[in-house]
Amino acid sequence: AKREGRNTMRLFSLRMQQQVQETLAIARDLRWAVERRQLVLHYQPQVDALTHRLVGVEALVRWQHPQWGLVSPARFIPIAEDTGLIQEIGTWVLHEALRQNGAWQAAGLPIVPMAVNLSVAQFRHPLLHGTLAEALRHSGQPAHMLELELTESVAMEDSDFTVTTIAGLKQLGVSLSIDDFGTGYSSLSYLKRFKVDKLKIDQSFVRGLNRDPQDEAIVDTVISLARSLGLRTIAEGVETSDQLQFLQQHGCDEIQGYLFSRPVPADAFPELLRSLSGI
Ligand code: C2E
Ligand code: CA
Ligand code: CA
Ligand code: CA
Repeated sequence: AKREGRNTMRLFSLRMQQQVQETLAIARDLRWAVERRQLVLHYQPQVDALTHRLVGVEALVRWQHPQWGLVSPARFIPIAEDTGLIQEIGTWVLHEALRQNGAWQAAGLPIVPMAVNLSVAQFRHPLLHGTLAEALRHSGQPAHMLELELTESVAMEDSDFTVTTIAGLKQLGVSLSIDDFGTGYSSLSYLKRFKVDKLKIDQSFVRGLNRDPQDEAIVDTVISLARSLGLRTIAEGVETSDQLQFLQQHGCDEIQGYLFSRPVPADAFPELLRSLSGI
């Protein structure tokens, strides 16, 4: 048993060593990713819960690495945050998502807001306001066509800085969603202090609909809470028609998930919209 333990330890440290090396390699190559045009955005539709009409689009970044293939944001965004590269990447995402939305509008696609994820580090950056204003100006998109998705951890911190920053964003005219709502651990009092527009019900709760009474209670409560505060709700990670039905019956406004579509590359989006109305 002792030897086994030692072997396990050796395997364990080998695995950790591999992970550290992989992380270092990602950090090294990520530095060039924007410049070498290796980042791509995929787009996932957000639809009205009842009519299934398109009401928004979320831009999700991927990294097309020459050796590793398509790298998931879950793998490189945390590294980008730790190294500060998130600023450059985030600015590229903003410009590209807004440009794409403008191109779709010009091509006659439905005119809906583009949702972009904002990291904590971006939120805290002193030049955020200017970066957003410049991206809007450059794209020619009006501010209400941009929706920023902030995770709860960002928004909750009830500091003067957060209050001022959010007020500045609202003044710019962009809309704000709280991403992964329900997974943070703080009081809900910030919902009173900050004018957000939408709560995004986390997919971990959506997964339990029609299976786990506790998840159902949470989803139901979030929808009621949002309603009484005058906020919209969107459920993410909706994969089954049973989940859709629950959400419809409980008054959720919008739906996003594989049931309607996975995130797709830009050139596949127009075709996707034609098939959406069929569900
Ligand atoms: P998120 O913002 O919570 O995005 C939702 C994730 O769930 C996406 O994963 C999406 O592809 C996936 N998803 C959507 N529908 C379903 C479904 O029905 N079932 C399941 N199982 N999954 C679904 P993705 O694209 O891998 O992104 C992961 C995370 O990476 C995002 O989570 C977000 O936190 C971050 N991320 C992605 N793009 C960006 C970006 O441009 N900037 C920043 N800062 N973060 C980003
Ligand atoms: Ca998001
Ligand atoms: Ca989310
Ligand atoms: Ca998430």
